[in-house]
Order: sequence, then C-alpha cells, then structure tokens
Amino acid sequence: MHDRTVNQRIQDFSEVSTGMTATDAKAEAERCLQCKKPLCVTGCPVTIDIPAFIREVAAGDFRKAAAIIKEQNMLPAICGRVCPQEVQCEGVCILGKKANPIAIGELERFVADEERTHGMMMPQKKVSTGRRVAVVGAGPAGLTASAELARMGYHVTLFESLHAAGGVLMYGIPSFRLPKEIVKAEIDAVLTLGVDLKLNHLVGRSVTVNELLNYDAVFLGTGAGLPYFMGLPGENLPGVYSANEFLTRVNLMHADRFPVYDTPVKRGSRVVVAGGGNVAMDAARVARRLGGRVTLVYRRREEDLPARIAEVEHAKEEGIEFVMCANPVRILGDQAITGVECSRMSMCELDASGRPEPKEIDGENFTIDADVFIAAIGQGPNPLLIGEIPELTRGKRGNVIIDENGHTSMRKVFAGGDVATGAATVILAMGAAKTAAHAIDRMLREE
Ligand SMILES: Cc1cc2nc3c(=O)[nH]c(=O)nc-3n(C[C@H](O)[C@H](O)[C@H](O)COP(=O)(O)OP(=O)(O)OC[C@H]3O[C@@H](n4cnc5c(N)ncnc54)[C@H](O)[C@@H]3O)c2cc1C
Repeated sequence: MHDRTVNQRIQDFSEVSTGMTATDAKAEAERCLQCKKPLCVTGCPVTIDIPAFIREVAAGDFRKAAAIIKEQNMLPAICGRVCPQEVQCEGVCILGKKANPIAIGELERFVADEERTHGMMMPQKKVSTGRRVAVVGAGPAGLTASAELARMGYHVTLFESLHAAGGVLMYGIPSFRLPKEIVKAEIDAVLTLGVDLKLNHLVGRSVTVNELLNYDAVFLGTGAGLPYFMGLPGENLPGVYSANEFLTRVNLMHADRFPVYDTPVKRGSRVVVAGGGNVAMDAARVARRLGGRVTLVYRRREEDLPARIAEVEHAKEEGIEFVMCANPVRILGDQAITGVECSRMSMCELDASGRPEPKEIDGENFTIDADVFIAAIGQGPNPLLIGEIPELTRGKRGNVIIDENGHTSMRKVFAGGDVATGAATVILAMGAAKTAAHAIDRMLREE
C-alpha cells in the first residue's frame, strides 16, 4: 500500500494510506496458496472464509469477494484498516514462514472499498421472531450484536449515549487512520437491517435499568471509556488531558476547527504524551497535526511498545520524538503547564506479561518542556450503567464477568467487547458480540 508523503499528511486529517489498486489486489491475491486447512481462518476472531474471498479477488470478482466477507463481518472497511492482522490472520499465514504473508487486511480493505463505491450489499435476513432485544452501546461490539440479531429476525433497539454511533471508531481512532465517512457507511449498512438506533440515550440515566430489563434479552457493549490517570502532582493543571478526552474533542467534536465548531482544545506547542499503545500513538499524531512538537514518553523499551508496528513507524516518520525507559513523575507549572519531570527507568526482571518490569533509577530525573500533557496509559469499563446493576458480577478491574457464550451472571443479560475484557481490539469486540448474539438466539428459541 502507498502512504501520502509526510509533509502532506501532517497538514491535515485525511487518510495516510491510499490503499491498493485493482492490479495490486489481484497480484497479491494470486500469491495465496489456498491452503486445505487455512490457518488464517482460525486466526480471525470472526472466522471470515479468507481463502474463498481471496480466490474471488484473484478472479477479479470483487463483489463476490465482498459478499463472502459480509457473511461474517459487517464492518470490513473498518477491520481492513485497524485490525492487528500481523498477530491474527496474517500472523499465521503459511507464506509468512519464508517470506511475506498475504496482505489479508489490505485485501479486505480493498474489497470493502470497492463494494462501497459500487453500492453496498445486504446479507440475507430471516423472518421476524417477534422478540425484542436491547443492545447498549453502538461501538463495534454493539453494532455487531445488533447486525447478527437483526439478521436472525429479532427486533433490535440499539441505545447509544453519544450523538453519533461508532464508539471508539468514531471518537477515538483519528480519521487519518479511519475516515469517518467509511465508519458512517458501514453503520448505515447495519441500520438497513432494521436496527432501531436511539442516539443520545444514556442507559442507566435517560433509560432506566428497569426499562432495559423489560426486553426479552439484553446485550451490553458499553466499552472501556473510563480513562486512567497517573495520579501525578500537577495533574489538575489546565492543559492536562486524558487521551480519551483529547481525541474525543478533536475526532467527534471537531475541536481542530474551533471556533467553527464550539468545542476548543489546547493546541500545544510542546506536547508530552505518556504511554506506548495505539491510543498514545493516535494522541501524539493528532497533537502533531495540531501544530505541536510532540514527545512520547514510555516506561519500557522500544521493543516492548504495545502499539502496532505500522503506527509506531508512522508516528516516527511524522516527527514524533520517542523517549523510552522514562516515566513522568510530576507535571510542572503554576497556573499552566511548563514542563514534565520524568524519571529514568531500568529494565529488570520479567513481569507476569513476560515483559521487563521497569524500575525507577534514583537521581536521574530530567525535564521536558511542555504546555500540554496527554495521559494515554489505559482505560477501564465505564461504571455508569454496570454500576447500577448490582446483580452483575464484575472483576477486579470493574469489567463485567461473562462465560464463553457472553452470558453474564444475570439470566437474560449478555455482554462482550471492552466492557468484559478491558481495553482490547475492534475485532475481539466483534467476535465476542457474535458469540453472545448466537447465545441469545439459542436462549430465546429454547424459551
Ligand atoms: C484511540 C484508540 C485507538 C485504538 N486503535 C485500535 C486499533 O488500531 N485497532 C484495534 O483493533 N483496536 C483499537 N482500539 C481499541 C478498540 O477501539 C476497542 O477495543 C473497541 O472499540 C471496543 O469496542 P466496544 O464496542 O466494546 O466499545 P466502544 O468502542 O468503546 O463502544 C462503546 C459504546 O458504548 C456507549 N456507551 C457506554 N455507556 C453507555 C450507556 N450507559 N448507555 C448508552 N451507551 C453507552 C459509548 O458511548 C460507546 O459508543 C483503539 C482504542 C482507542 C481508544
């Protein structure tokens, strides 16, 4: 795939990668070995028949390829762009043992973009069962559960607290990675299945828990939108943001176009971002596009960065400065931020995740000048709704506990996605939502 030049892309929020041409896509698809036991399918949390769709790409039948993907995945243009294919389908592709694996994600993106350009297709839908299911949260989990259930003939009401559907796809991931018109087009396709979307409905407040439990079944896909802070001195100064707030202001509220839109954001000239995941990379790259000189501080080594390699590379190309083995300990300033004091970290024994446990080195603190500080150190399940339902069993991190079918501790309540796992990935949220939707179907049919 081709990327726009760095000079072009740091000026705006348009998509960085320009995608494959039809010729590129066919040539790439022709490399596929069409394995008898395709590992790529087992590597895909929503089990797309990958060899079958790639076979159609090689034959030049892009619509048939799209139809095959759509059987399992209603959000292919999104997944083609943001899924960590390198550790899923592509990570197990047999060709990857000796050379490059098939670029499955790029092919999925190409096929989905072709379909959108030439008119979206709808998968088959069963006759109405007459039963009603409530889905809470219109992120990838809620959208997938809604689509699956609507296809199985249920009347689905999808509640979303924000004024736009999409969850993190809309408010978190910036448009230079995931253009919002693409998210909207795939959401519209889900709604065409007959899903009744109710925006600006905060379940637990404007819709009560009792009203929710009146449905025949409930799916909770409320995500992990509660940002963690570091508890640092100075964290209350103006100019300190959680990545969640910073990204929401720009992506959803268009703060980059203030005062045309009425939500502002502080455009830092020196920005420090703390964290090393996709969220940190996104916050850093957005701050760069707002005109700042950006330093990303991460407490472990570069090889331990949890972000996708492509995102790290893009961030570096765009001039983000990486300071590894360092950790913010104090935000400096009186009325506003003037800098961030960091400690140096040494890497000692491996921790439970197999990564070296960082330890502070005494006497080696240093300061980075800054007028904006963004904490991107993780987020947990939003307790607003799930905290209102004491019968729901929750884990140590506030996540809803589910079984292998997505069933919670309550008889007709299911859950999936980040609310159950904590911050994870789009495709894992979608896979969990599909599992839960089928379990809901089994439960209601048995009734
Ligand atoms: C900045 C950022 C970048 C990311 N990049 C990637 C990436 O590149 N690849 C990847 O795979 N994953 C990425 N992720 C993770 C991925 O986006 C999440 O794992 C995924 O969105 C989880 O889906 P979900 O549906 O469970 O939750 P969410 O997407 O969080 O959606 C939950 C929805 O529920 C709504 N809601 C919450 N409470 C209520 C309520 N009480 N009533 C009504 N509605 C409610 C919220 O408003 C939200 O719309 C990223 C996350 C972030 C924050």
